[in-house]
Amino acid sequence: MAKPGYTDTPFIPGQKWRVHDAERPQPRVVDTHGAPAKPPSDAIVLFDGHDTSAWINCKDGAPCGWTVEDGALVVKHGVGNIQTKATFGDCQLHVEWAAPTEIEGESQGRGNSGVFLMGLYEVQVLDNYNNPTYADGTAGAIYGQYPPLVNACRAPGEWQTFDIIFEAPRWDAKGALLSPAYLTVIFNGVVLHNRQAAQGPTGHRTVSDYATPHAATGPLMLQDHRNPVRFRNIWIRELKPYDV
Ligand code: MG
Repeated sequence: MAKPGYTDTPFIPGQKWRVHDAERPQPRVVDTHGAPAKPPSDAIVLFDGHDTSAWINCKDGAPCGWTVEDGALVVKHGVGNIQTKATFGDCQLHVEWAAPTEIEGESQGRGNSGVFLMGLYEVQVLDNYNNPTYADGTAGAIYGQYPPLVNACRAPGEWQTFDIIFEAPRWDAKGALLSPAYLTVIFNGVVLHNRQAAQGPTGHRTVSDYATPHAATGPLMLQDHRNPVRFRNIWIRELKPYDV
């Protein structure tokens, strides 16, 4: 049986394939298990509800140190930030988190944590359910740079999902910026940032830039900001060019 497609169409500019090319290999099949909650088959699972061996303490490289409770990884205040042993550049990241059920504090003091791509670019974790704070510090913000398009926060204690597509910045050999970091952030199924360029690594009360090149990959970091925020179902897929 003839392969579906065409053999007489023009070539796609910049590619070796024709438009609708019948000979172009099929995209690889990835089993998504029919439910968004489970990691796809080609994901790197960073936390499965039990195993914290992918994580170390940022300060001294010691084992993770946060609490595992009911299938969740819970921030243990005082232990400090944790990061993955592995490093990543361009990636698709899925993280689920829940703010503490017991409401404590306000503004940046309520259910604060953070997801730091490359250990440098923070997507804010915060309980912003009926809890106003400065806009560029709202849940899902590219912290200190861009507020989320909307506030899609669920109530404290409810599980929430971040799906983040991240592109690492690039510099040339002389240290001139070729392209900034780009973030696409989907929060509970709602787009908060659509391939937004970050202004540089995250800072607090500072303006950032790309004056200092950093490594091409970096660890994923989760923040200890005092509050016992819970995380689960953390997985990542490295993003690479088309297979063929
Ligand atoms: Mg934070």
